[in-house]
Amino acid sequence: MEVHNVDLTISAVAEKQYPNTQFPEIALVGRSNVGKSSLTNVLINRNKFARTSSQPGKTQTLNFYNIEDKLYFVDVPGYGYAKASKASREKWGRMIETYLTKREQLKGVITLVDGRHAPTDDDISMHNWLKYYNIPILTVATKMDKISGGKWNKQESLIKKTLQLDANEPLIMFSALTKAGKNEIWRWIEGRMKR
Ligand code: GDP
Repeated sequence: MEVHNVDLTISAVAEKQYPNTQFPEIALVGRSNVGKSSLTNVLINRNKFARTSSQPGKTQTLNFYNIEDKLYFVDVPGYGYAKASKASREKWGRMIETYLTKREQLKGVITLVDGRHAPTDDDISMHNWLKYYNIPILTVATKMDKISGGKWNKQESLIKKTLQLDANEPLIMFSALTKAGKNEIWRWIEGRMKR
């Protein structure tokens, strides 16, 4: 999709604030610092639209970005904050859980993992959890410009093996710097929007 118009419709802290439209929604989840804002900015052709790295401990919100009045990207706060209090982690869990399991407009979830390393235990739990709820998942490995071309296959296999991806579960290698993977990610999103 060629994106020209984007706005942050709402940073929601409660369900009643979610947009009351029928546009399909695609959620983006991942550990903080994995490159979620950078990926969002590449997808919408902006430099600094989506906020970068939210601070651990700050109020956790679900950010709804209206894309061309056709769909929403829903930025889910990063999981795996070692420093966040137990109470705030539990609150995060409930809000996300309700959104991800109950929201009819949600057509799929993009989960980001750091392409330089094996997925973490948090990444594995998130993936298994989404799978358990039958939520369509696209896994995106970020920061691939930091891996030399000759090692991409090895990283790809490591990620597939660690997350136990089935042959039909998509994984796209991405770089916000080179924009590798951008078109493939859009193709997946557009496919989900038609469901
Ligand atoms: P977020 O916390 O998941 O939103 O992560 P950000 O998008 O803010 O990225 C965290 C850090 O990783 C920033 O310093 C980014 O510049 C860097 N980063 C993100 N994506 C890439 C990428 O594809 N390549 C490289 N080299 N750095 C990246």
